[in-house]
Amino acid sequence: MMERIVERVTAVHQRIEAAAARVGRNPAEITLVAVTKTWPPERVLAAYAVGLRHFGENRVEELAEKRPYLESHLGTDSAKSVTWHLIGTLQSRKTGLAAAHADVFHALDRLKIAHRLARDLAANGRAANPQFTLPIFLEVNVSGESTKSGFDCTRWEEDDEQTAVLCAAAAELSTLPGLSLAGLMTMAPWDAPPEEIRAVFRRTRQLAAHLQTDRALPTPLQLSMGMTDDFETAIEEGATHVRVGRALFGERP
Ligand SMILES: *Cc1c(COP(=O)(O)O)cnc(C)c1O
Repeated sequence: MMERIVERVTAVHQRIEAAAARVGRNPAEITLVAVTKTWPPERVLAAYAVGLRHFGENRVEELAEKRPYLESHLGTDSAKSVTWHLIGTLQSRKTGLAAAHADVFHALDRLKIAHRLARDLAANGRAANPQFTLPIFLEVNVSGESTKSGFDCTRWEEDDEQTAVLCAAAAELSTLPGLSLAGLMTMAPWDAPPEEIRAVFRRTRQLAAHLQTDRALPTPLQLSMGMTDDFETAIEEGATHVRVGRALFGERP
């Protein structure tokens, strides 16, 4: 099993480097988030052993189980080198678990969740560390698929109201103690033609650029986009975080 993981991880790194090279980007600015959802925690240990350090879970309960498992098997110092990404949307009654265990949150879809996270981070003491912030990606829906969650940005180029709502969310998020604005996250429709998928990523990058320049957001916005079937396209369109499961671990159990 280890050998398979080594091969798969190497292949994904090579594909990331090739995609970055095609558009003249430095591959070092791209974070590979290994999506371990549904895999047993031993699998995460095996992935750690071959050098992966960023792990992604879409359900907070699963993250909250695997993180302590890894910590108890690796020892605290090694475990500190691991970053846990919560990549799925969060229900408001589960913000406490996320505040306790997530290092990055990729799927903020409404401000209420941000307020609760700030409250829970204050309550559990993590926010008391001056070095600590929980980086947050705002999830944006630019494709218009009704199954997608996230801020409605399906017509942001024409609809100033959509960018205004997103911008207000970004600004308010930045004022909440313990949280910081990391950037935008999006998901491409899973069965769309390649040009359509590329357009989703491109429009998300343009939206981030618009927020930064026209609306004067201070921090550079990162882009969490791209999964097994489309991460190379996402990198060509500017992704800084790709969330990859099946290409690293095979079909999920
Ligand atoms: C499952 C999941 C991924 C990874 O999907 P793969 O197709 O296995 O690479 C990425 N992002 C989110 C939000 C997911 O839920």
